[in-house]
Amino acid sequence: MPALSGNVRDLSAAGLPQARIAIIGAGYAGMAAAVELAAAGIPADVFEASRVLGGRARAVAVGGATVDNGQHLLIGAYRETLRLMNLVHPDGAERLLLRLPLTLITPGQLSLKAPPLPAPLHLAAALLFARGLRLADKLAAIRFMRNLKKRRYSLAADCSVAALLDAHRQPQRLREFLWEPLCIAALNTPVDAASAQVFANVLRDSLGGARAASDLLLPRVDLGALFPDAALRFVLGRGGRVLRNTAIRRIEQNADGYTLHATAGRFGQYAQLIVAVAPQHLPALIAPLPGVDDLRQRVGSLAWEPIVTCYLAYPANTRLAAPMIGHSAGLTQWLFDRGQLGGPAGLLAAVISAHGRHLELSNEQLTARIHAEISAIVPGLTSPSWSKVITEKRATFACTPNLARPQTVTPLPGLLLAGDYVASDYPATLESAVRSGVGAANTVIAIAAALRASQ
Ligand SMILES: Cc1cc2nc3c(=O)[nH]c(=O)nc-3n(C[C@H](O)[C@H](O)[C@H](O)COP(=O)(O)OP(=O)(O)OC[C@H]3O[C@@H](n4cnc5c(N)ncnc54)[C@H](O)[C@@H]3O)c2cc1C
Repeated sequence: MPALSGNVRDLSAAGLPQARIAIIGAGYAGMAAAVELAAAGIPADVFEASRVLGGRARAVAVGGATVDNGQHLLIGAYRETLRLMNLVHPDGAERLLLRLPLTLITPGQLSLKAPPLPAPLHLAAALLFARGLRLADKLAAIRFMRNLKKRRYSLAADCSVAALLDAHRQPQRLREFLWEPLCIAALNTPVDAASAQVFANVLRDSLGGARAASDLLLPRVDLGALFPDAALRFVLGRGGRVLRNTAIRRIEQNADGYTLHATAGRFGQYAQLIVAVAPQHLPALIAPLPGVDDLRQRVGSLAWEPIVTCYLAYPANTRLAAPMIGHSAGLTQWLFDRGQLGGPAGLLAAVISAHGRHLELSNEQLTARIHAEISAIVPGLTSPSWSKVITEKRATFACTPNLARPQTVTPLPGLLLAGDYVASDYPATLESAVRSGVGAANTVIAIAAALRASQ
C-alpha cells in the first residue's frame, strides 16, 4: 500500500477536484475504511443512519444486560479484522477475545480439539483423536482435506457443498456433525445451496492454514466495544467525523463530486465516496445516479438468509461444558455461555443460522423449544428469568455457487463500494466486511498517491 505522509489537504494539492472523502454506513466495513484512511492521514466524514455503530454486528440492551444483535464468532484467520482491532485498541485486541484452539463439542455426539502441534498435524491429530467419529469417518475427513489441498482449494467448477461432499464420498455422520455445521456457521447457507468454492476458501484459510488460523475467537465484550466504538475514537482523534442518526437519503453527482442529502441538510462536495451500506439499502440509494442499472440489478438480485439468536437468562450457577458447544437433533445449532465470555453468569445464547422450520414458530414457541433442548443437556434447569429472540431476517446474502458479487470500483468515478457482499473469497462475515473497507480505502489512497506522483 502506498504510504501517504500528509493529510486530506494533500489530496487537494494532488489535484482531486475536492479534497474530501465520505463514507456512508458505520458497520464493520465503513469503520474499517475510515480507520484505514485515518491511519494514512486522510480523515473522512462517516454518515450512519443509526445512533449505534456496528450495523449487523452491534450491541443491544436487553433485560438489563448488553448483548449483541446476534452472537458472533471470529476465527484466527480473520487477519484484517484482527489487524485493525489491534490498531484501534491501544492495549491490543487479544484481551477482548477468548482464543480457543479449534474445539468442536456436541454433547453426546462429537468431541474434537486441536492439540498444540504445528499445522497440519494439529488438524490430523484433532480428527484422529476425535470422540464420536468412526475411524472410517476420520480417514475420510483427512482424505477430503488432502484432496482439496492438492488442488490448492480451487475447484474446476463451483457446485453446492452437498455435491462436493458427495463427490468426496464423505460419510453421513461426518457430514452431520462436522461439515454441515461448519458450512452453515461460515456461509449461513444450507449445504445443498451453499457455494463449494467459497466453502473451500474458508477451509483453506482456517483448517488448512496455520494452527492459529483455525483458533476460535469468542468476543468477551459486545460487538460495539470490539471494534466500531474504538474505531470511532481512532478516527475522531485523527480529524475524521462520524455523524450518527444521519441517514443519507440521496446521492447527487455533480461536476465537483458528490453531494449527500440527509434530512438534516446537505453535505459535500465529496471527491471520493465509499458507500458501505448493507446490500438491501444500496439500490435505492444509488437509483438516481447514471450508469448503475447493472449494479443495482446485481445487488438487488441477492437472496437472503436469516440468523436467529435467542438469549435465555438462567440462574448464575448455570454453566455449559464449554463456552461454545454444538447442538444437533433439534432447532438449536450452537450454544454460547455468555457467563464464560465476560457476560452475566447464567446467560446463554442459542444460535440458529439460515432458513428452516424454526421460522414458522412464534418467539414464545421457539423459546420454549430451545429451553427444552438446553434442559436435555443441562440437567435440573429452571425456566429462564427472561429471554429474548432476535431475528435478523437479512443477516447475510445467501452464499450460493457462482454468485456474481459487485466489485469495489463502480462505473461512477470516485464512487466505491464496501460491504460484506463485495466480491471476495469469503462469505458474508466480519472479515469480508473489514477487507472490503480496507480495499476501498486503499483504492482512495492509491488514487491520491498516483495523482501526487503525476504532478
Ligand atoms: C445475527 C448475525 C450473526 C452473525 N454472525 C457472524 C459471525 O459469527 N461471524 C462473522 O464473521 N460474521 C457474522 N455475521 C455477519 C456479519 O455481522 C456481517 O457480515 C457484517 O457485520 C456486515 O458488515 P457491513 O459493514 O458490510 O454491513 P452492515 O453491518 O449492514 O453496515 C451497514 C451500515 O450502513 C448503515 N446505513 C444503511 N443505509 C444507510 C444510509 N442511507 N445512510 C447512512 N447509513 C446507512 C446501517 O445502519 C449500518 O450501520 C452475522 C450477522 C448477523 C446479522
